[in-house]
Amino acid sequence: MIPYGRQSIDDEDIVAVVRALKSDYLTTGPEVDAFEKELAERVGAKHVIAVSSGTAALHMAMAAVRIGPGDHVITSANTFLASANCAAYLGATPDFADIDPVSYNLSVESLEETWQGNTKAVVAVDFAGQPCDYPRITQLARERGAVVIQDASHSLGGSVAYSQEPISGLRSTTSEIQYPIGCLPGVDMTTFSFHPVKTMTTAEGGAVATDRDDLAEFCREFRTHGMVRDSKRFQTLEPGPWVYEMQHLGFNYRITDLQCALGRNQLRKLDQFVQRRAEIVAHYNDAFADLDYVTTPKLGDWLGQGSRHQAPSTTNRIAWHLYVLQINFNAIGSTRSAVMEKLREAGVGTQVHYIPVHLQPWYRENFGYCLGKCPNVESYYQRCLSLPLYPAMTDRDVRTVIATVKMILP
Ligand SMILES: *Cc1c(COP(=O)(O)O)cnc(C)c1O
Repeated sequence: MIPYGRQSIDDEDIVAVVRALKSDYLTTGPEVDAFEKELAERVGAKHVIAVSSGTAALHMAMAAVRIGPGDHVITSANTFLASANCAAYLGATPDFADIDPVSYNLSVESLEETWQGNTKAVVAVDFAGQPCDYPRITQLARERGAVVIQDASHSLGGSVAYSQEPISGLRSTTSEIQYPIGCLPGVDMTTFSFHPVKTMTTAEGGAVATDRDDLAEFCREFRTHGMVRDSKRFQTLEPGPWVYEMQHLGFNYRITDLQCALGRNQLRKLDQFVQRRAEIVAHYNDAFADLDYVTTPKLGDWLGQGSRHQAPSTTNRIAWHLYVLQINFNAIGSTRSAVMEKLREAGVGTQVHYIPVHLQPWYRENFGYCLGKCPNVESYYQRCLSLPLYPAMTDRDVRTVIATVKMILP
């Protein structure tokens, strides 16, 4: 069976974890610090704070920018539950903007329409690995006094070329700067997930990247119960070698040394992983380009490609996490369930990303969201199907997937 996603673990990963297991620290030791430093360097951020999951990273980022009751937070309806749930954890109102039908990412027009007086943050999700239109999203947020949190669970390892004036002239070819995902201009905080299906893994794990010292300091405390250990910052307690002070409510979101040992070794292979994923995507794009009832993934206009181009840009590097086809199941006289079942019988695993979050019962009941709120997401959802995409796929696996899909779809 070829699954839709899967981790790549080699002998060096195993050696690294065993070494950590034999060391003095199982958690919160030197591996955590080293992983944070190396990841920060890789993504071009001043600070990285590693935590126990991507969800914890989102929760922490929201808390750091002081999201709370009375605040309104907008994310894409085409995402995993966590992008929205983190706002609800803090008592804020999660809300959903529709997607752009080409990139399947947050539509900036819909974001503007969804905006309210109390909108305090945008959680922009880089769906399938393709970055959102950050030049426009960050400009809008800045004008309206909101923060931008980039949920880069899918896009770690990619980079975007900005012209010298990131806000105005993206298409300028004169003097471009390459920004890794993790330090895009105007983004306040970027979050990552290291779940096994993501681009690199620590089994469970996540991280926040930020250039802001104040937010980083908050996150380090939030990760471990809000404990402050620096006596210079104590508000009431007398300093002593054992004393810590709790100034705000935090959680236990610590990640272990075992996980960070794995993460450090995975990080060394990040470029390879991204490269292999891009190769597989190119094969799929070629193979499926001429299928009548199928739409292959496209880049949004802002990436300087024009929506009909499929070739990877020379300057923008997309770290593809998912390969999503849009299939007109009605037109082929079938259903998604039937197609998934046939593929499964032929040994090809597929998945659906995502069930529109606003249609989940909890969101309907608590916020009154209903069908029709995000029409592009809803029609996208009717047709989407994610094919297998992970670096350990062999060329033979790729050919098997292509042949099987072509056998089943007209
Ligand atoms: C995986 C994922 C998360 C959550 O990450 P966990 O590590 O599973 O908690 C959040 N947002 C998106 C878009 C994801 O894909």
